[in-house]
Amino acid sequence: MKTPIPDYLDEVLDSLRNDTSGNTAQYIPELAQANPDLFALSVTTATGSTYSAGDHLEEFTIQSISKPFAYAAAIMDRGLDRVLRSVGVEASGEAFNELSLEEGTHRPKNPMINAGAIMTHGLLVAEDASTEDRVARVLELFSQLAGRELRIDESVYASEMETADRNLATAHMLRSYGILGTDAHEVVSGYTRQCSILVTVEDLSLMSATLANGGVQPRTLERVLSEGIAQQVMSVMAVAGMYDGAGDWLTRVGIPAKSGVAGGLVGVLPDQVGIGAFSPRLDAHGNSQRAGRAFERLSTDMGLHLFAPSSGQLDVVDVHQEATREIFVLQGNVQFTAASELLDLMAASTSRTAVLVDISRVYSFTTVARRMALEGLRRLRLDGRRVFLNDPLQVLANPDLGDGTYPETP
Ligand code: GLN
Repeated sequence: MKTPIPDYLDEVLDSLRNDTSGNTAQYIPELAQANPDLFALSVTTATGSTYSAGDHLEEFTIQSISKPFAYAAAIMDRGLDRVLRSVGVEASGEAFNELSLEEGTHRPKNPMINAGAIMTHGLLVAEDASTEDRVARVLELFSQLAGRELRIDESVYASEMETADRNLATAHMLRSYGILGTDAHEVVSGYTRQCSILVTVEDLSLMSATLANGGVQPRTLERVLSEGIAQQVMSVMAVAGMYDGAGDWLTRVGIPAKSGVAGGLVGVLPDQVGIGAFSPRLDAHGNSQRAGRAFERLSTDMGLHLFAPSSGQLDVVDVHQEATREIFVLQGNVQFTAASELLDLMAASTSRTAVLVDISRVYSFTTVARRMALEGLRRLRLDGRRVFLNDPLQVLANPDLGDGTYPETP
């Protein structure tokens, strides 16, 4: 049997091919000349399976899709507090290249608009790092995220530098407010190189699947980012990834995303998938027209909206009575909601003698759910019952009830 997912992705591309609205990025000469008909889509699951369709081997420059990943690098290098002092996390509601800063602090509003991304690039590595060091830093991180060695398109870089007046003005403005310490030309040169890194849609889907997977690259299994940084990056993408169209995008499509002027689009759904799409014609906001529509289809057809209520998933606790014991059976990934359901059921427990919590079909507990389950067992025992835990896979490694004692094994 052949998995039907690539056929489905092909069908999505075919259904949108006749949409030729919009135009390639005109302000960067090399990008203006791109073949406007290219169209590709790639989905990588958080477990590392990739499905691709269309021109998925075609390389294009990452452009603004570099911004969330460079932001991750800056947080790793300098710490979140330091980064937040120079770049905010608020929606800007403005175009990507708007020359605007937050009132009072003069920070760029977020790292997704150019002002914030240029500032973020300037924070990379260390205060006194060279442009080469900063570019090498993003190239290295992006390669780890994609799981292959990436390179820079020098002609797109040179072409963009010829018309980089707006970005240079932005960097000078940041310097004039004392926010940016680095030389304006150097930082724009480094940032533009960062934007000129070549990727395919598969690279993009793997990079974002790493975010979806909490920072572990799902194919190389390397921990590239901490969970906290992955969470920070996905949050900022949801708030500001689509610039002035961010609210419309999040409500309609519901996939935190980031676009680039070469026509790329990356999206992420925590714990589920990373998605990459590519089509060079852009809409009025500078986002790829057909890639955006492909995301819309995926969201509707595959139920990928971040806030789509998923029925049934919370129902992971079952309780029944056996001769002398009351048995609580849990399954799947136990989070706060399932753990609170368990505690409610324990509170209503009718057994006077013994309870058994069976987690043989649980594959993970969140930290808080683990604490809740153990606290429930501790309280039942304080109430005078024997407590048993069936945990053959040791998902609750070291189930200390908080007082140095352990539940009995069944
Ligand atoms: N390099 C581009 C710029 O700075 C990136 C913009 C984008 O992709 N939206 O103008």
